Amino acid sequence: MSDIVIEAANVSKWYGTFRALTDVNLTVRKGERIVICGPSGSGKSTLIRCFNRLEAHQAGEITVNGMRLHSKMRNVTEVRKNVGMVFQHFNLFPHMTVLMNCMAAPMWIKGVPEAQARKTALQFLERVRIPEQANKYPAQLSGGQQQRVAIARSLCMEPSVMLFDEPTSSLDPEMVAEVLETMSSLARDGMTMVCVTHEMGFARAVADRVIFMDAGQVVEEAAPDNFFNNPRHERTNFFLSQILKH
Ligand code: ADP
Ligand code: MG
Repeated sequence: MSDIVIEAANVSKWYGTFRALTDVNLTVRKGERIVICGPSGSGKSTLIRCFNRLEAHQAGEITVNGMRLHSKMRNVTEVRKNVGMVFQHFNLFPHMTVLMNCMAAPMWIKGVPEAQARKTALQFLERVRIPEQANKYPAQLSGGQQQRVAIARSLCMEPSVMLFDEPTSSLDPEMVAEVLETMSSLARDGMTMVCVTHEMGFARAVADRVIFMDAGQVVEEAAPDNFFNNPRHERTNFFLSQILKH
């Protein structure tokens, strides 16, 4: 069996007449940790949203867990069941407790019995170290705690890959570390991860490969050491010089 979890081949996407992605190629293998960075508007979110079909691509091919994503597919839910996603703004259900946020998808989408869904939810809330928050509502939690709930909620579906879209960029600085630590611990456990982030310390410590995007294209793809110490492209260099200033 193939160990490829996500394969994007010559993927292009347009919003109307605007081309947001141009001939993107990326292969993600089981257990790999990929970090995607690049300036605002370079297509990072668009790319990973194509991986769980939150956006449709118009050219090229995307295959996720062996399923090819295309406009006539009927089983989008099948794809999404196995692809966890964590957003910048958490996107928790505000009217549900933390526990219910974690139980809902397994019960409603996978048909997991309630008792088992609760057990799994508590297990993953323990895993992100906030079991004591289970009966609160999202608004009663700090940003860092909410993001850890969002991670636990995704894990409850037992996905084969986790996508992160700038998970720490709307957090107050003192909460960034707790979320990065949670992500690092997932990585240590072997989770396959695609992380859009500008946390370069995380990229250095955790990523197998760093991808730099600009203007809808993958400009550079390298192991962290090469990426940071020896970028091949001027645009990568410029981006790094900007971001490392802060
Ligand atoms: P990034 O995540 O790297 O900041 P995005 O993938 O969000 O970039 O956006 C890439 C480009 O596509 C940007 O120019 C953005 O304005 C445009 N774009 C994103 N979403 C939409 C949309 N729903 N409709 C039209 N244009 C969009
Ligand atoms: Mg984005």
